[in-house]
Amino acid sequence: MTSLNPAQATPPFRMSPPDARDSDCQLCRRHVPTIHTCFRQHTGAIVVRFTKKIEGDLCQDCVKRVFWRFTLHTLLIGWLGFLSFFIAPGFVIANIVNYVKSNKHFSHL
Ligand SMILES: [Zn+2]
Repeated sequence: MTSLNPAQATPPFRMSPPDARDSDCQLCRRHVPTIHTCFRQHTGAIVVRFTKKIEGDLCQDCVKRVFWRFTLHTLLIGWLGFLSFFIAPGFVIANIVNYVKSNKHFSHL
């Protein structure tokens, strides 16, 4: 039998969501609201493939720029190759999910 300590049962109080920050953007270095997010780019080259990933605290402008650059690149040449044909759609879907989450976060600021 375990005893319940009321101090342990209460979740810690937070002023903002855990991923919300007002810090320096890791790409443009501006001190603006940021969100910790991740975008991936995939390049299929028939027999080889290349991936690129940006993960960190990004501002709204950088989120938008990186999302479109990485996602369009993956849509255009990410699927060229046997494994790439299956990997690229996953990267595109993950990028869209992270972009929507980021936009939702920035719209509430
Ligand atoms: Zn930025």
